[in-house]
Amino acid sequence: MKKIDWNGLTKEQVARKRDEFGLNQLEQKKKEPFYLKILHIILEPMFLLLIVAALIYFFLGEPKDGLIMLVFVVVIIAIEVIQEWKTDQTLNALKDLSAPKIKVIREGQSNEILSQELVPGDLMLIEEGVKVPADGFVIKANDLRINESSLTGEAEAVWKTLAETEESTSEDYWREDYVYTGTLVTTGSGTILVDKIGTKTEYGKIGKHLASAEEEATPLDKQIGKLVKVCAIIALIFLTLVAVVTFFNDADLPLKARFVESILSGITIAMAMIPEEFPVVLTVFLSMGAWRLAKKQSLIRKLPAVETMGAVSVLAVDKTGTITENKMTVSEIWVTANQAEDRLIETMGLASETEPYDPMEIAMLEYDEAHGWSKERLFNGQLVKEYPFTDELKMMGHVWDRNARIEITVKGSPESVLNISAVDSKKRAEIAEVIDRFSHEGLRVIAVGEQIVSTEAEVPKTIEACELNFLGLIGLSDPPRKGVAEDIQQCQKAGIKVVMITGDNGVTAGAIARNVGIANTDEFITGVEIDTLTAEELKEKVADITIFSRVTPEHKMRIVQAFKARGEVVAMTGDGVNDAPALKYADIGIAMGKRGSEVSREAADLILMDDDFSTIVSTVKDGRRIYDNIKKAIGYIFVIHIPIALTALFGPILGIPQAALLLLPVHVVLLELVIDPTCSVVLERQPSEPDIMDRPPRDPKESILSRGLLVKSVVQGLVIFVASFLAYYLTLQQNPSNDELARTMGLAVLIVANLFLVQVNSSNHLFGIQTFIKLIHDKVIWLILGGTMLILLALIYAPINSFLDLAPLSLTQLAICAALGMVSVCWYDLIKLARRVLKKE
Ligand code: ADP
Ligand code: MG
Repeated sequence: MKKIDWNGLTKEQVARKRDEFGLNQLEQKKKEPFYLKILHIILEPMFLLLIVAALIYFFLGEPKDGLIMLVFVVVIIAIEVIQEWKTDQTLNALKDLSAPKIKVIREGQSNEILSQELVPGDLMLIEEGVKVPADGFVIKANDLRINESSLTGEAEAVWKTLAETEESTSEDYWREDYVYTGTLVTTGSGTILVDKIGTKTEYGKIGKHLASAEEEATPLDKQIGKLVKVCAIIALIFLTLVAVVTFFNDADLPLKARFVESILSGITIAMAMIPEEFPVVLTVFLSMGAWRLAKKQSLIRKLPAVETMGAVSVLAVDKTGTITENKMTVSEIWVTANQAEDRLIETMGLASETEPYDPMEIAMLEYDEAHGWSKERLFNGQLVKEYPFTDELKMMGHVWDRNARIEITVKGSPESVLNISAVDSKKRAEIAEVIDRFSHEGLRVIAVGEQIVSTEAEVPKTIEACELNFLGLIGLSDPPRKGVAEDIQQCQKAGIKVVMITGDNGVTAGAIARNVGIANTDEFITGVEIDTLTAEELKEKVADITIFSRVTPEHKMRIVQAFKARGEVVAMTGDGVNDAPALKYADIGIAMGKRGSEVSREAADLILMDDDFSTIVSTVKDGRRIYDNIKKAIGYIFVIHIPIALTALFGPILGIPQAALLLLPVHVVLLELVIDPTCSVVLERQPSEPDIMDRPPRDPKESILSRGLLVKSVVQGLVIFVASFLAYYLTLQQNPSNDELARTMGLAVLIVANLFLVQVNSSNHLFGIQTFIKLIHDKVIWLILGGTMLILLALIYAPINSFLDLAPLSLTQLAICAALGMVSVCWYDLIKLARRVLKKE
């Protein structure tokens, strides 16, 4: 190996290499060019109709109307472009937040950078749980084992050795002194001199990643797609109907004019009915929701997870670190007869890492320090061998050459340590009693043992082959996180089953579970028992189990499967390397931002930046809120399209001449301009309903436009239609020549109704005025509602009205419209009132 500069690259070197090699990424992000984006929007049916309508006006020799239409087209496109741009920005920002990071040494300092910023020559630090982000030489290794199955198909992890030269010394294609992108560090740590990045890596060369699946449409996407289709079909029927009626109505006009009139009215109705807002609402609400969650330490990696979160019915969480603080303290020490307490304390220190990061070992070394065993005094020998901790063994050991003898020191779960200790049955019973006592206090119990041999040759190959002298037991406490008890109660009230998963023993887990108020804590099931059950049996069993103890990550997969087989929507936490499959399989896989491994984060749908159980609960709550709001928005859009569509239908049927209709194409467009922002801004910002965590999780199969919502929407829509159409029709009857006035009356009622509707439909329980007051401090809401009112006044009184075939109203007329608009919507608050009264009785 050439001389290695352990200070890493300098800023200038990095910049130079960046210029030469580019970013460390597998494919260049293709950005959709601006004109293509606009083209996409223009090709939406809504805009095609608009443009056709504008062209017809030009053909008819009415450039004024044509021009107005075009102006509107531009405005609406601008709004859509801005909306899409904002959504893109939000999603990209979210992506950046969860982008993989890696530790490097640059300019002599270690810091974390985005993996895509790696350049050849960088010194990167990898450790257990990291997914290797670039190819490179191993220049420092500590227990470093890497699973390379993603490249080689070889399931067994490979021990890595130090690279002597840049040239490969072995015949094997895959080098042992080299790490490869996309492989997984299963144990240990190491320093890597980055050699190749991006598409130059072995992983990049095979281009496997390109085969990665397209994002699947979620159930909600599909539902909304279906809804749009149904509406489009109805629109088509209405369109034909209206076009035909118009054609025959205008029998006294020349044929060409009849055609034009009939096409125009058909277009009007189609524009009025195509619910192009539905998909927009979905993406805007979900991405804004994800953005708000990110600010609350909950990072959504897959957008649909926002909505699924609201349907969660089982919450399976790790005990240590999620329910408890993962801040341990040694609180009990028990020494077997004939053993010295001091030796027990010494041995538990020797069996810990010299530089521990496991909170339990930190606690043990702190205890040792306080009892005269400083690190210097403890670790003054030579470390000869390590038996690494595994989830299956649940114990570990260190072999020290110390005091002119070889000391094998072991600590781990009592079952495991007792298994390799020489203990007679009487003593075993005594030990079992102590374990039971400690466990019932909610303490984690660790057993400690030692074996002294005189030569290194006598040290057993595996930990299982040791024959220990049993020293005693340690009881460690790990307090529950603050607020966990309240959160769990909230979950249980919300019909969500909280399940605790732990590698710890069942009694300890049960004691802690009881402490935080988890229901049904007397029964638990262990990993060993799970192994004896078939999938079907496990499915039956999990119905009333809330504690899973002594499980390994492999068991988690089966636990998720069992719950899912029962039709539950399962959210599961995981932090280890082996948790990834279970996280992927769960409806919501939750990884830890602080403690978790990179692999678990990559497999997750949600990353908890603060590792806190409370954040999961508040995310569920937000998920429910967001779903509620989507539902409200869909309902609202449905309602408001009904009067527009019916108006477009009834005008021609009642034989009103085309030019005197309530809604000409331009007015439909105008209404769209008002409706879109109102609903996507006001409803998106609605806080949660007061009962949001008092009701059971929603049925994941439930339709977003449920029958109840459909009936409510149709009735609301009909009432608004009657109000606005009457205002228009009666005025037209009185002044047959003044269609402008009649139209303005009808339009004013519609817009006022729209303003009230968005408030009234903001909540299923609160009155419109209450929802308004709740957000009274929100400037954006004011902007939208105030803006709508200004637009309305401008339409009525500003000189532009003549362009739009509108006319000024008298104050009385305005008041009538306002009252009609209000009454046509606010009657629904009376129903809420009636419901409240009934409920109280
Ligand atoms: P949890 O699910 O509570 O995080 P773990 O899977 O980390 O549990 O640990 C399971 C069991 O393995 C512990 O109860 C303990 O008996 C044993 N154990 C964990 N970490 C260590 C360690 N560093 N040394 C010895 N034993 C350990
Ligand atoms: Mg642990």
